[in-house]
Amino acid sequence: MRSVDEHLAEILATVRTLAPLELELERSLGTTLAEDVMTPVELPPFDNSAMDGYAVRSEDVRRAAPGSPVTLPVVDDVAAGDGALYAVGPGHAVRIMTGAPMPAGADAVVPVEWTDGGKTAVAITRSAPAGHAIRRAGEDVPKGEVVLRAGMPIGAAQLGILAGVGRRRALVRPRPRVVVLSTGAELVEPGSMLGAGQIWDSNSFTLTAAVREAGAEGFRAGVVPDDAAVFLDQLDAQLVRADAVITSGGVSMGAYEPVKEALGPLGTVRFQRVAMQPGMPQGFGVVGDDEVPIFALPGNPVSSFVSFILFVRPALRKMQGLPPEIATVRATTATALRSPPGKRSYLRATLSRGPDGASVVSPVRGQGSHQLAALAAADALVVVPEDVTDLPEGAAVEVIPL
Ligand code: AMP
Ligand code: MG
Repeated sequence: MRSVDEHLAEILATVRTLAPLELELERSLGTTLAEDVMTPVELPPFDNSAMDGYAVRSEDVRRAAPGSPVTLPVVDDVAAGDGALYAVGPGHAVRIMTGAPMPAGADAVVPVEWTDGGKTAVAITRSAPAGHAIRRAGEDVPKGEVVLRAGMPIGAAQLGILAGVGRRRALVRPRPRVVVLSTGAELVEPGSMLGAGQIWDSNSFTLTAAVREAGAEGFRAGVVPDDAAVFLDQLDAQLVRADAVITSGGVSMGAYEPVKEALGPLGTVRFQRVAMQPGMPQGFGVVGDDEVPIFALPGNPVSSFVSFILFVRPALRKMQGLPPEIATVRATTATALRSPPGKRSYLRATLSRGPDGASVVSPVRGQGSHQLAALAAADALVVVPEDVTDLPEGAAVEVIPL
């Protein structure tokens, strides 16, 4: 049996980071930036008002006070987007809106709240020092500065700054396209009636959703019966749109193991036992002319999900140009735990805070690898090392939050 770490190392050594491509901003959310992005202009591009109010010369309003307002004639009105040239002479004011360019000669904005709001003349009851309520050109970003570096995941704010520096497209690593195939003669589509010996296919839904949660594009290709030839046909049909393939089921030691039967002879996919629980039988390799990585996960629903978290998600992150490390936290156990010898186990659990604020982890009831309801009630996996079989209550453990 190989260790979890050996299996993951082989996977990460095999999968490649996807080649970058130019994408429209509308399609870039969730991708990873593959270039350093500079601003072609300073931001803001011009001095402008930070408030609705009056652009003035600060010395003209120096004596303004609640009991003794200073009244100035309002000579112009400037709104955001107004490209005309305005100027404020001594003793004058220009009504100005947030985002409008500062008129020449003015060195402060008096907020409308400090005035009577007049349109032809304005009474000002507070002084505004030089520079007040002005947003200076370049104070967000100086011209030529890098605003985003290669490797940055593009979320809403990153998309915003790309648009904010005038970009329509960006060079990004795309979201990997991942096809998910379930195998099993016993599987029927949820929503249809169960016959004798049948169960509803849940893995293809779980895994496709997990792919999407991992930031990749998931395509659910549905259920394939336990027939190696049909499986190969389906795989062939799906490969054209896949950067990676995930299958569930058909990889253990029984008869009717279509994935193993179909892929084993290719020589590019290896099926082995990994020292973990749940999820011992694992297949991994590449298929097709493009050497598309394929993850042949075990069929038990908890096994396939845990396998996804441990092996597929880090691989998808590498494909996206992101660090593949699995984030873990430390917690103490709320009860004693047992784990099989020689295997690293991943117990389904809930994470909470103890009275002292420290993280406490409690295993959920139902640790069988078929017990999907228990997985759905859990929000964490407790990692118990290979050589540990018994943990007392209050033991310190490593936890993977889900
Ligand atoms: P296998 O790995 O194909 O031997 O399947 C192991 C167990 O997982 C069996 O009890 C299967 O019925 C169950 N199983 C396999 N695939 C699925 C699936 N897509 N959804 C739910 N259960 C599954
Ligand atoms: Mg099966």
